[in-house]
Amino acid sequence: MHPHYQATSSPIYRAVWDTAVSGDAFAATVEATELDAQAVMDGAVKLVRQHRAAATLWGADGRVRESVLDDLAAIGYWGLSIDRRYGGSGVAFRSFAPFLTRMAAVDPTVAALGSVHGCIGAPRALERFGSESQRQRLLPDLATGRRLSAFALTEPGAGSDLTALQTYAEPQGDSLLVYGEKLFVTNLAPGRTLLLICRIDGQPAAVVCELPDQEDATFQLQHYGLHALRRTWNCGVRFHGFRVPAANRLDAGGGSGLTIAYRNLNYARIGLCASAAGTLRRMLADMLPWVRHRRTFGRPIADRQLVRFRLARLAGMMVGCDALVAWTSGLLDHGYRGELEAIVAKVFASDSLRVAAVELAMKTHGGRAFLQGHSWGDRLYDYLAPSIYEGEGELLRLAFFHGLSRHDGATAAEIPPPVVQGTRELPESLATRAGQAWRELRLAATEIRQLRERFGPAMADQQTRTVEVADRVLKSVVLLCTSLWAARSDDEILHLAAQVLAQELSAQRRDDDDHRAIDRLGEAIVDGHFAPLEGIDPAPVLLP
Ligand SMILES: Cc1cc2nc3c(=O)[nH]c(=O)nc-3n(C[C@H](O)[C@H](O)[C@H](O)COP(=O)(O)OP(=O)(O)OC[C@H]3O[C@@H](n4cnc5c(N)ncnc54)[C@H](O)[C@@H]3O)c2cc1C
Repeated sequence: MHPHYQATSSPIYRAVWDTAVSGDAFAATVEATELDAQAVMDGAVKLVRQHRAAATLWGADGRVRESVLDDLAAIGYWGLSIDRRYGGSGVAFRSFAPFLTRMAAVDPTVAALGSVHGCIGAPRALERFGSESQRQRLLPDLATGRRLSAFALTEPGAGSDLTALQTYAEPQGDSLLVYGEKLFVTNLAPGRTLLLICRIDGQPAAVVCELPDQEDATFQLQHYGLHALRRTWNCGVRFHGFRVPAANRLDAGGGSGLTIAYRNLNYARIGLCASAAGTLRRMLADMLPWVRHRRTFGRPIADRQLVRFRLARLAGMMVGCDALVAWTSGLLDHGYRGELEAIVAKVFASDSLRVAAVELAMKTHGGRAFLQGHSWGDRLYDYLAPSIYEGEGELLRLAFFHGLSRHDGATAAEIPPPVVQGTRELPESLATRAGQAWRELRLAATEIRQLRERFGPAMADQQTRTVEVADRVLKSVVLLCTSLWAARSDDEILHLAAQVLAQELSAQRRDDDDHRAIDRLGEAIVDGHFAPLEGIDPAPVLLP
């Protein structure tokens, strides 16, 4: 292994470029959460579950009630990942991320709000880039939930292309005056705190904006109908001379406002994967009453192999997300920048949600999926939108490839991974495909090098080649990560789920053992023996 890479590069980078990396490619460790923080998590889940059961989660406008957000604030939900010195619970990201999974399994919208606030919003940026006085001034309200946070990056002319950002802030005395327009901002409402990415003196900068409780001539929200995230707030905002204290500008060190945005995006992409893991649980749980209820040709469809295969595939995706969350959140806690790993988590999770929704859940629910009030139809756009926000999947594959192909892609912020505690030998059912994935990574290194030599600077125009190679690397990484994750457990059902996912990712033909795994896993899920579904109340069967 090149010492240079060991000291500075991401595990994926090293896995692709160095031959001697093995167990340390998986660095997740679970840390005990302080008891009071655990009580906050348990209390928040209990509260949301009670509201769901009593049908009091949504107000008359169909959105999460303000009173629920206040109740969550009283419990400490919004301060979970904020340092204790500023009034939060200070939980590590590797505890916060699985908690998002737990919350999303109860209600994906509440989890999404927690993720925006705790992963991509102002608190995360203040924690890393804020001065002590900025933290003392701005974090306590974010910890108590008196102010919720949103992240404003996208503009009408700048979504995928962030070089086109036009919103700017003009220094005037002790203030900055903001001009421009932001679009698609989740969790945006008067009285909230925006992490605003805009230009100052032509350069991207990050500014924390505490919005007043009322719109005025200098900031006005732009409302539109949006199918996705309809249970929460998402709107645009126009600024015309909106005044922010100049002291609210964050210092990106040697970088720019985009450095801050990208760092937050790493957390948010892992948060998305964690939420997806919970949403997939809910999707699977909601399928079970139906497959047991619905009979065709004299038998419940739950008896049918094709239906069980869908359940098994969904379980595999869920375990894949769990594995990626454990791995990547641990890396961030240990000081890695984790950009490549966060891309893997985000792309796998958003692809899984989309495929699971359309190929697995929709087909299984049949025509009733489209009934108004059906859990699938009501959430369809929420299953699809993650493929777009926080980076569209193919563009992220391009970025992933270019991240890998940069030979000196080392980042100073990264440190060597800790040795994995308790990784065991892989079960035989996983070892073969994990070995193949490992070899695939080795081959990809050569392939990437050859492509770079062949196309040089014109590589950027070879998008179809790039995406194809990136996709193979990405799948190999997910396969390895999931196999190592499953191997840490004694749960044979979990091994089967990892095996079903590994077969799918490897795109190799299914052998007899794979068919047996599908049958056994499908049966275990139908019989209620799939541990990740414990405690999730399924939606009742909806009949016209
Ligand atoms: C539900 C939802 C919530 C959101 N929440 C937020 C938020 O809280 N804060 C925020 O700032 N933004 C948010 N967004 C915005 C989101 O991040 C952007 O929609 C996303 O980054 C893509 O930008 P765009 O829609 O402008 O796509 P465009 O830039 O218009 O791109 C459209 C498509 O063109 C293709 N494309 C673009 N460039 C290239 C290229 N170079 N090569 C090949 N193909 C290309 C890609 O397939 C891309 O998806 C949200 C969006 C949605 C839908």
